Amino acid sequence: MNLSLDNTQNAFAYKSNADLRKARFLFTVIQNPLVVSLATSVTPFLMKSGLPINGLIRSTIFKQFVGGETLEDSARVTKQLGAYGVQVILDYGVEAKEGEENFDNVADKIIEAVEFAATQKNVPYVSVKLTGLASLNLLETLNEAPRLRSGIHDSESQTAEWERVRERMFAICDIANEKGVGILLDAEETWIQDPIDRLAFELMGVYNKGKVVVYNTYQLYREDRLHFLKLSYKLAVEGNFLLGAKLVRGAYMEKERERAIAMNYPSPIHVNKEATDRDFDAAALFCLEHKETISLILASHNEQSNLLTAQKMIELGMSNNDERVHFSQLFGMSDHISFNMALENYNVSKYLPFGPIQEVIPYLMRRAQENSSVNGQTNRELLLIRKELSRRKAKK
Ligand SMILES: Cc1cc2nc3c(=O)[nH]c(=O)nc-3n(C[C@H](O)[C@H](O)[C@H](O)COP(=O)(O)OP(=O)(O)OC[C@H]3O[C@@H](n4cnc5c(N)ncnc54)[C@H](O)[C@@H]3O)c2cc1C
Repeated sequence: MNLSLDNTQNAFAYKSNADLRKARFLFTVIQNPLVVSLATSVTPFLMKSGLPINGLIRSTIFKQFVGGETLEDSARVTKQLGAYGVQVILDYGVEAKEGEENFDNVADKIIEAVEFAATQKNVPYVSVKLTGLASLNLLETLNEAPRLRSGIHDSESQTAEWERVRERMFAICDIANEKGVGILLDAEETWIQDPIDRLAFELMGVYNKGKVVVYNTYQLYREDRLHFLKLSYKLAVEGNFLLGAKLVRGAYMEKERERAIAMNYPSPIHVNKEATDRDFDAAALFCLEHKETISLILASHNEQSNLLTAQKMIELGMSNNDERVHFSQLFGMSDHISFNMALENYNVSKYLPFGPIQEVIPYLMRRAQENSSVNGQTNRELLLIRKELSRRKAKK
């Protein structure tokens, strides 16, 4: 296999020295779990208090991990990435803002993003978080009570509320289908995931005929998800539709474990990282082995998992840019994977959120946490940035 992920010159070609130095500073700061823990608890309050910290956030963590406050801002980043053959998954980064009016606004923003994506050469997908379109309370209720899942809801108002959520998703998918843009339904916490999965199946049954428009997300840190992926495949075959499967390890591990302890039920998360890794890689191989039915998006910063998947594609005689396989990393992380893979002609993208600063704070806090944990990527990001800065200095 020709693919090597080591080349930092490729990885950071789009970053100036000043950008790299800023990134080095940021990753050095968020490496410290104490700083991150403090920042995640006080930042939302500081933002609300009206203290002028927007500027600081904008020029540091926001710039590193977010495309901009508007679609127009993101267009600049999209173009820049496109120059290196790197694609984009657009994400309107506003999360869990309650109220029907807010849900309608988010749906409108997502539709705008789909329309924008259709005008760009390198934006094949738009991602959707159902918590942007539905109330947490409704999702929790639907998750908890099996009899409610069949559509027989507790009250007429809940039935009407769920109907509006479905209408929003169908409106988004109608336009995506018409414009040739894929919709990625994000996976969220286990206590609201069931209705998301059900809606994903309903949508795939309608739109994924002959081409894949809708993708569901599988969090392989969950003990039950490899089995669920296999079940999803069976349902797709039986239902005569194509399965879109985005694989992630999962972003809510601490929260899931804490809730399980607090509420005294077994944690749904694997007992250790090895078990998560094993299921993640097994899921990727399963998708490739069933490529007639499954289109795979491998969303990971794990070098080993990306290389293993690329190797398996060779073994199965697939070309690097087979349209059924796509790789993706978050904007601001693991450029060495994205840019080196793009050079070898793989379909690879950056997941690029956009939205007003105060609205994307939860996303930014997750990135800070992800990069500060002991098992996190910060060390590797820092090493790569330092390596590239030294290489540039030596070249002078
Ligand atoms: C394009 C894209 C889309 C995404 N969409 C979603 C989404 O819809 N839903 C979502 O939840 N996340 C999503 N994520 C975030 C993703 O879950 C995290 O970025 C990912 O978990 C980080 O893991 P990794 O595969 O990059 O590799 P690694 O760095 O190898 O793995 C880190 C991950 O392993 C798991 N892990 C770590 N320690 C342990 C342990 N002790 N026991 C068990 N498991 C452990 C955790 O999931 C941790 O995040 C997305 C990421 C990308 C790139």
